[in-house]
Amino acid sequence: PSALREVLIEVPNVRWEDIGGLEDVKQELREAVEWPLKYPKAFERLGIEPPKGILLYGPPGTGKTLLAKAVANESQANFIAIRGPEVLSKWVGETEKRIREIFRKARQAAPTVVFIDEIDAIAPARGSEGDRVTDRLINQLLTEMDGIQENSGVVVIGATNRPDIIDPALLRPGRFDRLILVPAPDEKARLEIFKVHTRRVPLAGDVDLRELAKKTEGYTGADIAALVREAALIAMRRIMRELPREVVESESEEFLERLKVSKKDFE
Ligand code: ATP
Repeated sequence: PSALREVLIEVPNVRWEDIGGLEDVKQELREAVEWPLKYPKAFERLGIEPPKGILLYGPPGTGKTLLAKAVANESQANFIAIRGPEVLSKWVGETEKRIREIFRKARQAAPTVVFIDEIDAIAPARGSEGDRVTDRLINQLLTEMDGIQENSGVVVIGATNRPDIIDPALLRPGRFDRLILVPAPDEKARLEIFKVHTRRVPLAGDVDLRELAKKTEGYTGADIAALVREAALIAMRRIMRELPREVVESESEEFLERLKVSKKDFE
């Protein structure tokens, strides 16, 4: 079995408005990724070099993947996503081949955002033991990033929860030289995230998103998404219990009309 799985190019459908909060991060990504990809001539004229690599770091579930997808979509760029652990192969030479293939495809499909999630898995600081596969992988990644031509329309976005264990060679100028913190959401950001995730959810009048935002201290975006999904299912169970079986079975108007998520479903 080959570790050389096909490199999938996608066009994500995530928009900026699907991401709650993180306004500063969105703006930074607009300027560092969207502008150079959309207006390469302007950057040439201004004589400024856009970053080749950006590292998004912060706790899990805070929207790093969403941000990478949104910036690709909003830049009208293609998107290639890989996960650090999945690119590691015990087959000699396979890992480098895979990295080469990813960047070849990226250049071919440019403008392209290459997203490397859990980059710490492939790029932990090279220790004394010197894991050979990891070493070769980092070297290949460095070679590819150093080889990205100015204005070639390829940008690499890495994501990690452990920026402290990333090989410093990757953080040098011309590589991942832009570090952006993606923090856990504060109350205001949580409210925005609740709004995003309840956009298509019928809510009863007693649901107060502000109150929910206040009560969910410590929740990440992923936690809030899960909470809304769970509340919707609780509402469905409750309403199925409340209505006669025939009404439910036929998915009648009455049943659908009653399907609203109430305050109590969130508790
Ligand atoms: P990990 O480090 O675990 O890969 P991540 O930071 O990449 O996490 P995402 O995969 O982007 O997090 O987020 C997971 C899910 O959580 C998203 O699909 C989305 O439903 C929800 N989510 C996270 N952050 C936000 C946000 N700021 N706004 C709206 N939804 C969010």
